[in-house]
Amino acid sequence: MIKSKLALFLLGKKEGFDMGKLVKFVHRSQYWTKEQWTEYHNAQIAVLIEHAYEHSPFYKRWFDTAGLTPEDIRTVDDLVKIPIVRKNDLIAHGVEFRADNAGDYAMIHHHTGGTTGTPCAYDMDRYSWALNWALKMRTFEWGGYHYGADTLGVMAGGSLIPGKRGGWKNRLWRYVNNYYSIPISHLTEDLLEQHYSYLKNYHVRFMRGYPSALMILAEYVCDHHGTLPMQAVFTTAEMLLPHQRKIMEEVFQCKLFDTYGCGDGMGNATECEMHGELHVCEECSIMQIVDKNGKEVKDGEEGEIVLTALYNYGFPFIRYAPGDRAVKSERKCACGRETKMIRVLNGRSSDNFKLANGKILNAFSLPIEELTEEIRQFQVVQEAKDRVSLLIIPKGTISKERIKGLQALLEYHCGEGITVDVQVVDYIELPVSGKRRFVVSKVK
Ligand SMILES: [Zn+2]
Repeated sequence: MIKSKLALFLLGKKEGFDMGKLVKFVHRSQYWTKEQWTEYHNAQIAVLIEHAYEHSPFYKRWFDTAGLTPEDIRTVDDLVKIPIVRKNDLIAHGVEFRADNAGDYAMIHHHTGGTTGTPCAYDMDRYSWALNWALKMRTFEWGGYHYGADTLGVMAGGSLIPGKRGGWKNRLWRYVNNYYSIPISHLTEDLLEQHYSYLKNYHVRFMRGYPSALMILAEYVCDHHGTLPMQAVFTTAEMLLPHQRKIMEEVFQCKLFDTYGCGDGMGNATECEMHGELHVCEECSIMQIVDKNGKEVKDGEEGEIVLTALYNYGFPFIRYAPGDRAVKSERKCACGRETKMIRVLNGRSSDNFKLANGKILNAFSLPIEELTEEIRQFQVVQEAKDRVSLLIIPKGTISKERIKGLQALLEYHCGEGITVDVQVVDYIELPVSGKRRFVVSKVK
């Protein structure tokens, strides 16, 4: 554990925070009661609202337009009075979100939008970053991982791989972190074999990555070696589909820990060792699941995720909806933690295609498990309001009957008046972020 403590100390030095203290805080807070959470959130609200009203031009205008003053919002229960702020508002007015005293908060610039297809930029202050990091580590610990002491295989595009460039500083930093990086661009079978050998020979027991990235390794291992036992695998940034979980749990012979994360809004929710619904990380933001009137839904009901970041003073996010949907759960988890629980729904709202015949098609509602028996990769593309394509890369050869079957499936889900076609391709383009998108709409 000395290595773990040393790595934490060095990270704190690099980031300018006592990371050990933050880690201790999130270890304690995970067992807070519902009453303690309410008290903690209420203690932050008034100061945050007053700050945003005074320093963020966007929120000043937003409050004024709604006829609200900071005095109207004193507790979490008052948040419902604030109209929902949407991703489109962030895209259109991003600069105005920024506080006029943002310079006091050591901001880090971020981009998002890989999975939603609507890229946008925002700033995160260093404290929110550090708190998010501590929360991420807590989730990894639920899977048995110890930062710095255990090697973590990281399989993703550029954004999840810290210090991906060369140079001694980055190499040293990777050594301290004890990450083993597997960049997913330009992977070949030879490279996959090399990575497999490394992971096996050096007894790497933990992996992290996008589901689609980890699937590349899982499928290679499955075809050539059968299994590659791990202690825990952490998935993030993309929707984890049921068939992906099944395959990876078989190949890696361990449970998956899925996470929902939303940098714009500082929302996080993670799977615990009981592997049920996701625990909301309530330390960094208030997550509400709301109906179309902005009111919190009841237990078991579906709604839109709305976030209020508690500490991102330099770039406030208040009542911000990133475009994701979830089911609220008031079930008490067997692990004893009393945080809010959610079940994130397959597909973001931006994954819904509005078709010319009036139907709304959610591509994740297609029977994807049926597709994956013979198909290595697929993507549903809305080419126009009345035209939808399914791109597939088959695992081997695929029969004409099967393609006809897929065509019929797509026709059935799209309804009358929509032209659909199934295209067998060799390659499906990957965005720069490396996050694979199952659905893409070319319709503005
Ligand atoms: Zn739990």
